[in-house]
Amino acid sequence: MNLDAPTLVTVTVFVTVIMGALFLLSWSQDRQTRALGFLGAAQIIGALAAALFGLRGIIPDWISIGLANAVMLAAFGLIWAGARSFQGMRVSPARVGAGALLWLAACLVPPFYASLGARVILSSTVAGLYCALAARTLWHHRGEVLPSRGPAAILLASEALLCWARVPATLALPSPPVGSPTQTFWVAVLCFVALLYTVAVSVLFMALAKERLEAEQRRAAETDPLTGVANRRALVARARRDLAAGPACLLLFDLDHFKRVNDTFGHAVGDAVLVGFCAAARQVLPEEAVLGRLGGEEFACVLPGAGAAQAQAVAETVRLAVGAMRPDLLPSLAVTVSVGVARGRGDFEALLGLADRALYQAKAQGRDRVVLAGPDLRQAA
Ligand code: GH3
Ligand code: MG
Ligand code: MG
Repeated sequence: MNLDAPTLVTVTVFVTVIMGALFLLSWSQDRQTRALGFLGAAQIIGALAAALFGLRGIIPDWISIGLANAVMLAAFGLIWAGARSFQGMRVSPARVGAGALLWLAACLVPPFYASLGARVILSSTVAGLYCALAARTLWHHRGEVLPSRGPAAILLASEALLCWARVPATLALPSPPVGSPTQTFWVAVLCFVALLYTVAVSVLFMALAKERLEAEQRRAAETDPLTGVANRRALVARARRDLAAGPACLLLFDLDHFKRVNDTFGHAVGDAVLVGFCAAARQVLPEEAVLGRLGGEEFACVLPGAGAAQAQAVAETVRLAVGAMRPDLLPSLAVTVSVGVARGRGDFEALLGLADRALYQAKAQGRDRVVLAGPDLRQAA
C-alpha cells in the first residue's frame, strides 16, 4: 500500500471540515449541548491545521510550522473543552488556549524553533496532555452510564499514548531529512492516524450526545412532572416485573380530604402538599421500594418479596411521617393519608383491586389509617 501524503492531507481536510460543519449544525439545533459546538470548532480548526501542514514548502515555514502547530494545539484544547462541557464542567478559555500560546512562545526562542526534535517533543506532549485530560474527564463521570463513554475514554487515552510515544521515538531515532521518502512516509502515517482518530472520536461524541438525550427522554417518559416520582406507566411496569418474579406487597396511598385542601387554600398549596407527601414517603420507604403516582392524590408503592406484616409496618411508618409533615407554604396545615395494603403474585390488576378495597375500608373507618387486605381485612392503625 502506498500512503500518499498530499492525497491523505486533502482527504483529512475535507472529511474534518464536513464533520465539523455537521457538529456545528447539530449544536445550532440544540444549543444546550455546547459540547457539540466545541467539537465542531475543534474539527474546523483541526482541518485548518492539517491544510497548513500540507502546504509545507509552498507557504512560509513560520505559517506551516509555527502557526500550524499552534492551530493544531488549539484544536486539541477544544476537544478537551468539549469533554468538560459535555460533563457540565466550567471551560476556561485560558487553559484551552494555553497549549497554543506555550507553543508560540517557544517558537520565539530561535534554538527551539530550529530544532525539529524539540518541536515534535513539545507539540506531541501538549497534544497528548489534552487528549489525556479529555479521556480523564469522560471517565471521571462514568456514574452517568452511557454506552459510548468507555470506548470514547479509551480512544482518547490511546490517542494520548500515541502522541506521547512520539517523544521517545524522536529522542531515539534520527529525524529523516525533510522531503526524503522516509519523512514523507511518516507524515502520511501520522495524517492517516489523525484522520482515523478524528472520525472515531467525532462519531463517539455524537453517540454520547444522542445517548444522553435518549436517557433524558426515557426518564421524562417515566416520571411524574409535579412530584418527580415514577408515573403510573412506570410504576405499573415495575409492579408487573416484580410480581412476575415472585410475591410482592402493594401499598396504595390516598391523601385524606385533599379536595378540601385545594378548595380552602388553592391549587398551589395542594400541589405543594403532593410534593411534600412524596418527599416524606421517600424518606422512610426502603431503598428498593419504588413510589409512583397513579393519578391525582393517589400514590402506590411495590415492596418485592415483603411479607404482609412488614408491608403493613412500612405503610404505618409512611402514615406517621405524613402526619408529622408541615408543608412549607402553610405550616399549620395538617395532612393525613389512608393506606390499603395487599400481598399477592402474578396478576397486578387483581392485587390493585385488593389494595383498593382495603383503602376503601380505611376511608370508611375514619381515614388516617392502614388497612391490610385479606379475608378478614385486618385494621392496623
Ligand atoms: P378522600 O379523603 O375521600 O380521599 O377525599 P378527597 O377530597 O381526597 O378525594 P377526592 O377524590 O374527592 O378529591 C381529590 C382531589 O384531588 C380533587 C382534585 O381537584 C385534586 N387533584 C387531583 N390532581 C391534583 C393535582 O395535580 N394538584 C392539585 N392541587 N390537586 C389535584
Ligand atoms: Mg382519591
Ligand atoms: Mg383523597
